[in-house]
Amino acid sequence: MTPISETILKSWQVRKTKAQKSAFIRFLQDHFPELQVQEHKKNRNLVLGDISTAKVVLTAHYDTCARLPFPNFITPLNIWAYLGYQLLIVVPFIALMFLVEALVSPLVQDNRLSLLVGYFAMLGSMFYLLMGGPANPYTANDNTSGVITLLELYQAMPPQQRGRVAIVLFDNEENGLLGSKAFYKAHKQEAWKEKLLFNFDCVSDGDTLLFVLNKAGMAGWGDTVRAAFPATDAKQVRVESSSKAFYPSDQANFPTNCAVSSMKTHKLLGLYMDKIHTPEDRYFDTRNIEFLTAGTLRLLDSLPE
Ligand SMILES: [Zn+2]
Repeated sequence: MTPISETILKSWQVRKTKAQKSAFIRFLQDHFPELQVQEHKKNRNLVLGDISTAKVVLTAHYDTCARLPFPNFITPLNIWAYLGYQLLIVVPFIALMFLVEALVSPLVQDNRLSLLVGYFAMLGSMFYLLMGGPANPYTANDNTSGVITLLELYQAMPPQQRGRVAIVLFDNEENGLLGSKAFYKAHKQEAWKEKLLFNFDCVSDGDTLLFVLNKAGMAGWGDTVRAAFPATDAKQVRVESSSKAFYPSDQANFPTNCAVSSMKTHKLLGLYMDKIHTPEDRYFDTRNIEFLTAGTLRLLDSLPE
């Protein structure tokens, strides 16, 4: 990895508050003065290159999440396990709602009011935990790995390739894909259907690289992606259509897209990701970054002139 990537991994994993993001943007601009900060509805998206001439737009979110007591457990090919887990997470919040209701009820002597108070206690605690809580101190996989992959790529690209590619670091993915949504709106006039949006989110933990393409992505780019990313002894590859595999990230806001992530495998659950959004998010396999950088350069090389 380049020294810039090493520094980001060592010292820049927390990018949650406005001040933390501003400091990170200044750090990036020291190294890449050509980096543009595009402000769309309070989201600061960071752009290298020109979207209008790009055939492929490489993206990753740079904002980081709050520290949660439980991981965001994702099983892209097993929607029932995913939903079951989400349901489990909700149970303690529902318990809190009834607890608050039981405590408030004798005080206000109004059943509907006490239920309402319990309900807002539940919503408030959920909202606080998911967005307002303290920053997660470790974000190696989610999504320092994506940011580093893009910067490695940018530094490795010869000038003739840079002209056909744009790089965007999205803001506020963790708050509901807000940065990418605002970015798409602001650049709506571009010929997005012709451009592949290739999004890296959580790519450093797990030996299976998963590529999920939506319908237009698969039709136009599926074979190109398969050819550019052959499996190796150490790394497996899965190329799936978004009708079969579910991966929640910024690509969802664009018409022709591919989500790139790394997964572990389990006999029963299939592919899974298990540490993000907790202080255990520390695993950073540089081989994944090298694999993705080399493959993406091959993909860009295969573009027609
Ligand atoms: Zn993420």
